[in-house]
Amino acid sequence: MFSFFRNSLTLGHPFGIQVRIHGLFLFFVGALTFLAGLGGGIGEAFWTLILLSALFGCVTLHELGHCLVARHFRIRVRGITLFPLGGVAEIEQIGVSPRAEFWIAIGGPIVNIVLAFILTPIAYLSQGAFLAFFDTLLAINVAMAFFNLLPAFPLDGGRILRSHFSARWGNHLRATEKAVSIGQKIALVMGAFGLFYNPWLILIALFIYIMGQQELQMTRISASTPSPHHGPFPFTTSSHHPPHPSPGNHRPTRTIVIRLPFGTFHLPRR
Ligand SMILES: [Zn+2]
Repeated sequence: MFSFFRNSLTLGHPFGIQVRIHGLFLFFVGALTFLAGLGGGIGEAFWTLILLSALFGCVTLHELGHCLVARHFRIRVRGITLFPLGGVAEIEQIGVSPRAEFWIAIGGPIVNIVLAFILTPIAYLSQGAFLAFFDTLLAINVAMAFFNLLPAFPLDGGRILRSHFSARWGNHLRATEKAVSIGQKIALVMGAFGLFYNPWLILIALFIYIMGQQELQMTRISASTPSPHHGPFPFTTSSHHPPHPSPGNHRPTRTIVIRLPFGTFHLPRR
């Protein structure tokens, strides 16, 4: 178990998927609420707390979207943890077919699009503080859907692109190389824009660039390790029978994909 995931509190098990809240997250919410209270009194603190809870509710639903689709494809899901920077869904990576990858990736943004459709009439009918609240929540969901659908691997949109190349070429590594190369070009453009307009864009661009490179390396290692199962390429397999490394296999680790609403980490795991 990574120490990264310790110090977290279980919130519940929606659809049988464990949702945890990290200590850092509690501190973050507490600090922001306190600061809002200092600036604008108890009313401001109240709305800040409600908005943060709703925001992370939407993040959790986005991650649940990925997890539920993964589970539908019989891919192991380890749970969701809420961090100050977003939700983290741990989904196992071995034995994911292009078709499953496509649906898992699109499952998160679809949740935000559905939420945006639900929030539009609610915001329209609201007034005063409720209007500001639902308007903000609506904007956040639209932004989350669009940002994650950018074809910049390892964002959800980049994974959709990779699944397309994978299905077309039957070569997971080549598909990853192409998707990462496209993602890094987008990151460079984003970073250049950031220099002039918004420094946050530089950070996000760096994140996409580095994480893409890291996942490409992981894929190269996996591709060069003998695989215990048969298929056109190591990662293609029937989604109903995810392969398990046999005792004689030298594959060193299983890997999990850690998804954040603003991107995806790819970590080896025993
Ligand atoms: Zn996502």
